[in-house]
Amino acid sequence: MKRSAGQDPEITARWRPATRAVRGGTARSDYGETSEAIFMTSGYAYDSAGEAAARFRGEAPGMTYSRLQNPTVEMFEKRVALLEGTETARATATGMAAMSAALLSQLSAGDHLVAGKALFGSCRVLVDTILPRFGIETTTVDGADPEAWARARRPNTRVFFLETPSNPGLEIADLRAIADIGHDAGATIVVDNAFATPVLQRPIEFGADVVCHSATKLMDGQGRVLAGVVCGTAKWMNDVYLAFARHTGPNLSPFNAWVVLKSLETLDLRVRRACENALAVARFLESRVTTRYPGLASHPQHELAMRQMAAGGTIIALFVPGGQVQAHALLDGLELIDISNNLGDSRSLMTHPATTTHYSVSAEVRAEMGITDGMLRLSIGLEDPADLIDDLDQALRRAGL
Ligand SMILES: *Cc1c(COP(=O)(O)O)cnc(C)c1O
Repeated sequence: MKRSAGQDPEITARWRPATRAVRGGTARSDYGETSEAIFMTSGYAYDSAGEAAARFRGEAPGMTYSRLQNPTVEMFEKRVALLEGTETARATATGMAAMSAALLSQLSAGDHLVAGKALFGSCRVLVDTILPRFGIETTTVDGADPEAWARARRPNTRVFFLETPSNPGLEIADLRAIADIGHDAGATIVVDNAFATPVLQRPIEFGADVVCHSATKLMDGQGRVLAGVVCGTAKWMNDVYLAFARHTGPNLSPFNAWVVLKSLETLDLRVRRACENALAVARFLESRVTTRYPGLASHPQHELAMRQMAAGGTIIALFVPGGQVQAHALLDGLELIDISNNLGDSRSLMTHPATTTHYSVSAEVRAEMGITDGMLRLSIGLEDPADLIDDLDQALRRAGL
């Protein structure tokens, strides 16, 4: 391997976030390529039987099998860890692989987990249905109310799991207050940071222990690959996470790791521009319909959002008075913005959560999460905000708003 500053912890520790996003973790092969290589290999060959044995004993450096290590995947992991401010990170095939492995690796039958109610749909299914099948007790609470987290603690509580801002209601959880309450009970604080990304919010700075991502969203940011990542201390990663994941294999493919690795180079630029666009669009929408956006003073937790986040994020929730019929009419009137349930793309996308992303969640749980029939979720991309506003203006008119 050639020398690369991105592999030197003393150098990368001095770098500011935008530099880390471009160069963190870069490893150069003997060709000295400037752009990172894709190592599409499942295995590794050894110079001798003795060397193979030494690597397996952990006494010689080098990789042994791509479920355990891969050079391209490792570059992505190092870069994300540098951005989140954690000692290590491990990549997974999807965001849900990251969430499920992060939780299953540390919970056993008889343990208890507390989660915020306002979770991504599949995270809610994981908490409500899948974990209890393995004898793990779960309680969901109003994530915005620290007292509710305190009341939910039990002697066997091992994990607090939350997402902020939440999807799709854009509720803000007070990371510092909830981390303190969880730590008092000896719980590990696991935060899904997909909506904010480390550009806007680093949960570790507020006391979180483990940070998970759907890298499918803003990290890729161009709607191409599914990916996830779990970040934490070296000790937790080795003793807890890898004790599970080494043998269950939720790994990310080297090709997808490369795609997201290259996307991280522009993460800072993209997220900041999309937030500027979102603020402009939210200001416009607020003049016409009920709008929730953490960057607007009208958001009930605006001050807390601005304490935790560098900007209001890239997602806006809007509420039309005419229920599903009017919400669908607004979507059908769009010309530029796509009707799509994905988010965090360079293209602006809008969806009706009650009939798509949260369709499989019961009406009761939807109500609990603030998902009404008139709610729409808008993910803002990198188009000119004036074009987005023009499109929304004409679609609102067509829907009678
Ligand atoms: C999309 C998403 C997930 C799931 O990620 P996948 O990559 O789709 O598996 C989890 N949490 C949040 C907040 C998300 O937006």
